[in-house]
Amino acid sequence: MGVKKQELNIALVGAGLVGSLLSIFLARRGIKVKMFERRPDMRKEIISAGRSINLAISTRGIKALSLLGLDKSVLAKAVPMRGRMMHSLTGELTFQSYGMNDDECINSISRGTLNKLLMTEAEKSGLVEIEFNKEVTDIEFESDTLTILDKRSGQTEKVRFDMVIGTDGSASAIRHAMLRLPGYQASETKLEYGYKELVILPDAAGGHKLEPNALHIWPRGNFMLIALPNFEGSFTCTLFLPFAGPLSFEHLQSDQEISAFFQSYFADAVPYIDNLVETFKSNPTGHMVTVKSYPWNIEGKTLLLGDAAHGIVPFFGQGMNCGFEDCSVLSRFIDGMEDLSESSWAKMFAAYGKERKVNADAIADMAVENFVEMRDKVADPKFLLEKEVEKILQKEFPGRYVSRYALVTFNNVPYKLALDAGIVENEILSKLCKGINKADEVDLSLAERLIDESLVPLLEPYTPELSLVSH
Ligand SMILES: Cc1cc2nc3c(=O)[nH]c(=O)nc-3n(C[C@H](O)[C@H](O)[C@H](O)COP(=O)(O)OP(=O)(O)OC[C@H]3O[C@@H](n4cnc5c(N)ncnc54)[C@H](O)[C@@H]3O)c2cc1C
Repeated sequence: MGVKKQELNIALVGAGLVGSLLSIFLARRGIKVKMFERRPDMRKEIISAGRSINLAISTRGIKALSLLGLDKSVLAKAVPMRGRMMHSLTGELTFQSYGMNDDECINSISRGTLNKLLMTEAEKSGLVEIEFNKEVTDIEFESDTLTILDKRSGQTEKVRFDMVIGTDGSASAIRHAMLRLPGYQASETKLEYGYKELVILPDAAGGHKLEPNALHIWPRGNFMLIALPNFEGSFTCTLFLPFAGPLSFEHLQSDQEISAFFQSYFADAVPYIDNLVETFKSNPTGHMVTVKSYPWNIEGKTLLLGDAAHGIVPFFGQGMNCGFEDCSVLSRFIDGMEDLSESSWAKMFAAYGKERKVNADAIADMAVENFVEMRDKVADPKFLLEKEVEKILQKEFPGRYVSRYALVTFNNVPYKLALDAGIVENEILSKLCKGINKADEVDLSLAERLIDESLVPLLEPYTPELSLVSH
């Protein structure tokens, strides 16, 4: 009791996307934060922002930014993507819009641009101090002490804090240290696929060489290439491919193998990709991992947030969005606290984890499933028919039929609801598509009955939110 905000001695480990955003939420409540980031300051030194060069931000991420008044400045630097542009083997293009109107889009933003903007905004508050080149190598929970390595001097120091928040990403040192304690669990499931980034440069006039307002996909069964537009006219392409097996990274070693592979499967992209073979050989092959851990807190002293708590594979474009939503949910819980005593933090962290865990698990599972949809099903006629029928249902029964994709991407409803609704929707679509060849042959009275019986009861508690979908 009686703890004042300015007296709280909080350390945040990791000034990535989630850590930087969280520090702004805390600073706006008058709470002082010290952040430790192992990389140099990317605003002063040219370094890779790590992992993907660009990413898609959608409603959940935008909502968190809008609570801080930052949504407009971020979206001003993003490229809206209104749907998927599928590239067939023979180069034919098919466009599938993501939403029901132009507002329902996802937005491609540079990871570096976003991270820099958030760090600058955090420091502007005067309450956030970021120490760069400082890697937290250990935490002793008995004495609340962090071991911090200065990567420039090679010196380590031990510093005591009242509270430590781990936003240090999917390989979190804080999570690994928590696992030494009884009752703490985590699983790390590596996908047997890797990813590699390539680039399509802008044209001579600085414009995009492909349709800019789309996420381009070359679905090829058990692998795929995608391309997301960048603000300044380029595209970042990402190849997702098994590590091992007949068509895999393992088998793409020589220049000849690399160019023959791209020529066979992505012929229409080849003329655009800059320095294809050399870039392929020099860029690293990334891993993707689903991390599930629990509990996320140690009393009121330690908390995990973002990828540190729940790593998600990138196929629903939700890892960062989910981490940003962590921040807005935590902020709501902070507002509900009676005081700033350690026991209040402990109660609040536990309640936050309980509400959030089920949702983080849901999006982690949906993200793995969506990989199959993106690389394989988007080229399958049965799936395409179901998608067409789904569009009709959304139009005919607004608020009563909302697709799983829209629940995840264009809404702020719990991810678990989207997971549950998606199972029911699959059943409805498969019943409705049995025996029809074209979407307009769908039996709308049967559809209405199925929707009212099985989907509406799930969505009903959220109807007021659903009917106000916007961002
Ligand atoms: C290929 C790919 C594409 C993706 N696309 C999307 C997308 O389209 N949309 C989306 O929402 N999400 C996407 N994601 C997921 C997204 O990148 C992550 O969910 C997001 O980066 C998580 O943010 P974070 O701050 O929790 O972790 P990170 O971004 O990993 O940041 C962690 C920070 O902590 C620092 N750090 C780590 N360890 C220490 C330590 N011991 N001491 C000090 N500092 C430390 C790191 O240097 C880093 O700055 C994608 C991921 C990948 C791999």
